[in-house]
Amino acid sequence: MRLSRYFLPVLRENPSEAQIVSHRLMLRAGMIRQQAAGIYSWLPLGYRVLRRIEEIVHQEQVRAGHIPMLMPTLQPADLWRESGRYDDYGEEMLRIRDRQKRDLLYGPTNEEMITDIFRAHVGSYRDLPLTLYHIQWKFRDEIRPRFGVMRGREFLMKDGYNFDIDKEASLHAYNRHMVSYLRTYERMGLTAIPMRAASGPIGGDNTHEFLVLAATGESEVYYDDRVQDLRLGSRAIDYDDRAAVAGVCEEFTTLYARTGETHDAGLFETVPEAHRKVGRGIEVGQIFYFSTKYSEPMGAVVVNDKGERVPVHMGSHGIGVSRLVGAIIEASHDERGIIWPEGVTPFPVGLVNLKQGDGATDAACAAIEGALAAKGLEVLYDDRDERAGAKFATMDLIGLPWRITVGPRGLAAGKVELTSRRTGAAEEMTPEEAVARIGAIYAGL
Ligand code: ATP
Ligand code: MG
Repeated sequence: MRLSRYFLPVLRENPSEAQIVSHRLMLRAGMIRQQAAGIYSWLPLGYRVLRRIEEIVHQEQVRAGHIPMLMPTLQPADLWRESGRYDDYGEEMLRIRDRQKRDLLYGPTNEEMITDIFRAHVGSYRDLPLTLYHIQWKFRDEIRPRFGVMRGREFLMKDGYNFDIDKEASLHAYNRHMVSYLRTYERMGLTAIPMRAASGPIGGDNTHEFLVLAATGESEVYYDDRVQDLRLGSRAIDYDDRAAVAGVCEEFTTLYARTGETHDAGLFETVPEAHRKVGRGIEVGQIFYFSTKYSEPMGAVVVNDKGERVPVHMGSHGIGVSRLVGAIIEASHDERGIIWPEGVTPFPVGLVNLKQGDGATDAACAAIEGALAAKGLEVLYDDRDERAGAKFATMDLIGLPWRITVGPRGLAAGKVELTSRRTGAAEEMTPEEAVARIGAIYAGL
């Protein structure tokens, strides 16, 4: 992508409405525009990151054996009257009436709709286990939308629903979600800690929230700081192996980690003092097992292997896809701007031409752009007729993890410069070496 032809409306000034760094940087980097309180347009750069996050979420869900689909944003109120939540949900639910005077709502979540789909099409234990999920916009009329996309009213969520024959099978689905979420966040360069949580209006007593530690987080968290060092890494996971999956969950949930709602001061005391930490976190996901809470009232029943009709055991599992964009920035930035982890960066590399219009630098830049494209890597090429300082400032602000700089002096010696956004370390090398290096960095992602 040539910057001269792109749409990247960066702001020089700090927008006064932004209270936290991720919101400020998303506005300054031209990623989003607010259209109403808590409702945003995703401008091209922000949209690229959102799509990358969605892609990773899809890949890890499919790897865990979960099946993607898509349900609508608008839902009939009658479904929610069946579960009893139409009245319970309160002011957070946006209620709509169509021209036939039928009550609709903009979905805040999808337990009722997925249960309706299940009961219409599934009748036997032989069709289980089944986990369906989608990534769709939600609306919750939050009292205080704030912090940009972190607490929006309209926001993008991955929500998945498991249907199983009994509690044991449903807890295996719960564990699969925990492990697939850990891998999802790790691929985004995040450490998200599963913490025992309170269940709220969804119901059920088995629930964990995933929290990214950040001073600006809305949740109070209490934890043994050794949980921050746990990593899945590249280990292979057989999602059908109940014991192995449960083992991973145990590894990640044994050290003390709880949100304020479930905090147990007495138990916390047993953590060695040097490791006892109190802080704040951003909730980027939550998983629930809620037994037959929806299947019973809504008649999601299957025939079991003894010929009896039994309600299915269910759970629901959410990832805050649009919130993650802000959470990643909270966890990864400096005073000059965003620092994208390679896994989610909008472009893998930025290319800066220090002398636009010079035959040699123009040709070298075009060659690098082409060589990276041949490896499937799209470069953001700053081909504008601008000062070097302005080009570097833009690149630093938008946070691409790698920058290749091409200038006439270096080029005369056959060299370009490769710079890491994270460390600032710069290295001279031939254009071919720079291309090979970038190719190797992204090869495994
Ligand atoms: P919160 O406690 O932050 O209001 P929640 O527990 O009500 O969130 P869930 O129903 O668990 O939210 O939804 C799954 C995920 O969707 C959350 O973990 C969070 O990452 C994201 N999410 C929830 N509400 C919002 C919002 N208003 N804006 C952006 N993301 C949200
Ligand atoms: Mg939650």
